[in-house]
Amino acid sequence: MVKVHNLFVLLMVMSAVIAGIGRPLRVAAEEGEPVIQLRLLETTDIHCHLADYDYYQTKEDPGVGLARTATLIKHAREEVLNSLLFDNGDNIQGNPLGDYVAKVKGIKKGETHPVFRALDRLAYDAVTVGNHEFNYGLDFLNRAIEGAKMPVVNANVYQAQQDEPYFVPYVILNKTVVDSHGQNHTLKIGVIGFVPPQIMEWDKANLEGKITVKPIVETAKKYIPIMKKKGADVIVALAHTGISSEPYEPGMENAAYYLAQLDGIDAILSGHSHNLFPGPLYKNLPHSNLKKGTINGKLVVMAGSFGSHLGIVDLNLQKKQGRWTVVDGKSMVWPIVDEKGESEIPADRDILKEILPEHQAAIDYVNQPVGETIAPIFSYFALVQDDPSVQIINNAQTKYLMEKLKDPAYSKFAGIPVLSAAAPFKAGGRGGPGYYTNIPAGTLAIKNIADLYVYPNTLQAVLINGSQLKEWLEMSAGLFNQINPAQPGEQPLINLEFRSYNFDVIDGVNYQIDVTKPAKYDHNDKLIHPNASRIVNLTYQGRPVMPDQKFIVATNHYRAGSKTYPGVSQGETIFNGPDETRRILTNYIQENQTIDPAADGNWSIAKFNGSATVVFESSPNAQQFARQFADIKILGPSNRGFFKYLMDLTVQ
Ligand code: MN
Ligand code: MG
Repeated sequence: MVKVHNLFVLLMVMSAVIAGIGRPLRVAAEEGEPVIQLRLLETTDIHCHLADYDYYQTKEDPGVGLARTATLIKHAREEVLNSLLFDNGDNIQGNPLGDYVAKVKGIKKGETHPVFRALDRLAYDAVTVGNHEFNYGLDFLNRAIEGAKMPVVNANVYQAQQDEPYFVPYVILNKTVVDSHGQNHTLKIGVIGFVPPQIMEWDKANLEGKITVKPIVETAKKYIPIMKKKGADVIVALAHTGISSEPYEPGMENAAYYLAQLDGIDAILSGHSHNLFPGPLYKNLPHSNLKKGTINGKLVVMAGSFGSHLGIVDLNLQKKQGRWTVVDGKSMVWPIVDEKGESEIPADRDILKEILPEHQAAIDYVNQPVGETIAPIFSYFALVQDDPSVQIINNAQTKYLMEKLKDPAYSKFAGIPVLSAAAPFKAGGRGGPGYYTNIPAGTLAIKNIADLYVYPNTLQAVLINGSQLKEWLEMSAGLFNQINPAQPGEQPLINLEFRSYNFDVIDGVNYQIDVTKPAKYDHNDKLIHPNASRIVNLTYQGRPVMPDQKFIVATNHYRAGSKTYPGVSQGETIFNGPDETRRILTNYIQENQTIDPAADGNWSIAKFNGSATVVFESSPNAQQFARQFADIKILGPSNRGFFKYLMDLTVQ
């Protein structure tokens, strides 16, 4: 706690310093006590987006790429005397370039991963690992970071056998800085990293028995005093974790809010949830100040994803009791494309040149053909009706699992119906109006497979009963807002807080979703209306599903490993395959050679009596396909570049 008289002094100092924020401290001598302005720069969740390029559409994409963020980094450095640059993890996985390097090319001895070559060229001061760094296994991760010239820190991953940190938990950087009087000083900057403990569920097959993960906040509490004792003037947390004020739990995934309550931490570089802080999404976050960019009084930043933004934390330090102390500051995010999409930051040619060999090889790789489709495959309406882009994944998963279950090892499951769950991954939302799958009729190449299934997930199968199946679908149905059939005016159908990858469509059974009822679960797997039921007419082969009836459901390893997703988390994982879903999909298409993408219509939103005008957003490009569907009407332009469509759910 700050004592009252100290607070008074602090306020006096702060008001003096605030006047200087945002102005470069170029003047060699200023009046009064010297101030050190220290700028921290953050990239996060780059997900291997180095070039400003979309490997699914094989064309330039001005909205992504570290090459473009690099230009902002140069500007941000030029504005100030003292700066440090950090990456917050999730950098080696997330697009076909990452897959190409990890799965096709590999990293030979003496080679450096293109991500780390790019980071080295920009002279990053330190980086941490995100959850997706573990997707390709520990050997590949270690190979990748071996080539990094900057320290790679993480404090909460431990070796499974000994109680020893797996990575370098923190570093203390000696940073020569210039104060407002033109004097040089050496500041000790402590940098520590964290990753969500959930990696043990998400990458169980890669990590079990090799590492363990400790809670983020507890780990911080252990190390901060150690770092202070070693003389850290400033402590920066590279926290690959999101921001949530939900009640504290030790193993929580998004712990930045609670990290910001700890004494000793001066700035939190956050990430993982691909959002912006400061930004409007957090307008209701308690104890936050979006003008200054603080949470619980601490400076926090989160810089979007794929290089879309540069995060900036400006710290002002003054001497207090003989030590340089952060007295004020401000955080902000700079975009590479302005909100209206009218002006763009150009790409840094050096970075593009650095990664050119892998960039070109990745393009050649994704252009390799695997089969043909007789009709276009698009995900524009995947959230409102059964969709071919989801159907094809479920068909491939079902066929693969049925084959696997023929092995005598699974004979005890013989006769149990096999279902399959898959969700639309690219369905607009926070990804924007360009974040959809749209594959033209004709040749299907690897880039199209990766577009249909953007994550390197593996297939697992879960044994559940009929009531667990219903809960699974009730959770999934939380995607929809509750519609009042009698209410006049437009009612948006989709709850934008609900992530489309959590909207599982389960094939092999038939069902309808009654959106006039409240959602049983919210977007965080929380039970909110215990007596609600949206799933109606749930049948298997024409007969109602019985509560104790058994099913085997093919799903991905994230879902099967979830401890919270209703229904599936009560099930038992009976099959844990080594094969990536994308490989399964590729094999399926190669076996069939020519596919006819068509949804089987096993689910739909139930129609109701009333006159409600139910609307949803999709891409403007969806217009060309909307006419195929009797219930969908084009309304016109909507927000953020989306287009608005009407879904006629009323009984005729
Ligand atoms: Mn990420
Ligand atoms: Mg279907």
